[in-house]
Amino acid sequence: MSDILIVEDNPVNQKLIAFLLARAGYTYEVAENGLVALERLRAAPYHLVLMDMMMPVMNGFDAVRAIRADAKLRHLPVIALTANALKGEDEKCRAAGCDAYIAKPYSKEQVLKAIAKMLPASPAAGGGRGAGGGA
Ligand code: MN
Repeated sequence: MSDILIVEDNPVNQKLIAFLLARAGYTYEVAENGLVALERLRAAPYHLVLMDMMMPVMNGFDAVRAIRADAKLRHLPVIALTANALKGEDEKCRAAGCDAYIAKPYSKEQVLKAIAKMLPASPAAGGGRGAGGGA
């Protein structure tokens, strides 16, 4: 199993986030849209989801609503990643069911801080997890 599911359609952003997480010692997998994410989440346990909101096939808003409507997934922490700091976007993400919100372009520190807040034990805190690659 992996710590984090990255849900992001943009290949460059996928690589950036994956690199950041791997360097911080988290394991991860990547889903390219909300529909693939739901399949992954229903097939294996994850501790947290980093969710891009604008994606083809199924966007982040619909994916988070589906997560919150699923008895097995409803408590899963979801951090929204949005393309820009649009006014009201934070509220929109939270209304859909996201626990936290990060606007792009985000700093490495922003992302790691948001994750550390949600995960009970980060690898840096000595959680004992191996610093494996992922996907
Ligand atoms: Mn996108």
